[in-house]
Amino acid sequence: MKQNLPLSFEFFPPKTADGIANLRETRTQLAQYNPEFFSVTFGAGGSTTDRTKETVFEIQAEGYQAAPHISCISSSKEEIRELLSAYQAKGIKRLVTLRGDVPSGEVSVGDFKYANELVSFIRQETGDWFHLEVAAYPEFHPEALSAAKDMANFKRKVEAGADSAITQYFYNADAYFRFIDECEADGITIPIVPGIMPIYNYTQLARFSGVCGAEIPRWLRLRLEAYADDLPSLRALGVDVVSELCETLLAWGVPSLHFYTLNQAGTISKIIDNLEIK
Ligand code: FAD
Repeated sequence: MKQNLPLSFEFFPPKTADGIANLRETRTQLAQYNPEFFSVTFGAGGSTTDRTKETVFEIQAEGYQAAPHISCISSSKEEIRELLSAYQAKGIKRLVTLRGDVPSGEVSVGDFKYANELVSFIRQETGDWFHLEVAAYPEFHPEALSAAKDMANFKRKVEAGADSAITQYFYNADAYFRFIDECEADGITIPIVPGIMPIYNYTQLARFSGVCGAEIPRWLRLRLEAYADDLPSLRALGVDVVSELCETLLAWGVPSLHFYTLNQAGTISKIIDNLEIK
């Protein structure tokens, strides 16, 4: 067990009674690693607001720091204001602050176009109450017009008042190192925590990666494809590859690791237990 490693774990809000029970079990297993916080995602356009809130409040009632994700696209200022008040009333102190994916079709974008506007609004409404996390993209956001513009947009969020950032997942550690170098050269000094995606299933990972712009390197893709019908071998390879990535990042000196858990603990426990660096 690694008690001193700074870690955080991300969940999605479960829909069913079984999903809720499974997440409680997952949380109990991951709590042994003494995480800084558990975060809970938010569905596009507010589709999970109530479930995100319920999950966050349950985690907090168990005595852990819980951080809801909050996304602004298709939301009004009034809706965000109400959500912030609900979180403040329950003593929530950390938010993962996002734009969210732009919905397709004729849906209004609402009062906010980009995450920097949400960060500014939260600061304006609630001062320093919340620790604000924002998203960072070492391999660049899929809508980025250029690498330089994406970096400038990230800086905008930091200048609006973000305290720290969590990255999109990546399997190329060099993309993260270069991103941090550029941030430092540009005067960005907030902690930027790598987001770590364990490998559970190739089809699902390939689909996620296509949508969010995270590259699966060719050597890894071909090896994972070869194990498409052999889940135990695929997961064993995934644990090796992701453990090595975490070791590389920790040796370099990352501030913490944030795991995308998909509400499962087993694979992540193997990865953390593999780590030499405490
Ligand atoms: P932004 O920072 O607003 O950036 C979006 C795009 O717009 C980028 O291409 C950027 O370069 C550009 N841009 C930004 N500001 C400007 C500007 N002022 N002018 C012009 N262009 C600009 N999604 C969910 O729906 N729910 C979640 O819970 C969730 N959690 C996430 C957690 C993490 C750690 C990460 C990395 C992503 C998460 N996402 C989640 C996905 C995220 O919502 C999408 O990636 C979304 O498309 C962008 O959100 P953002 O906050 O990064 O947007």
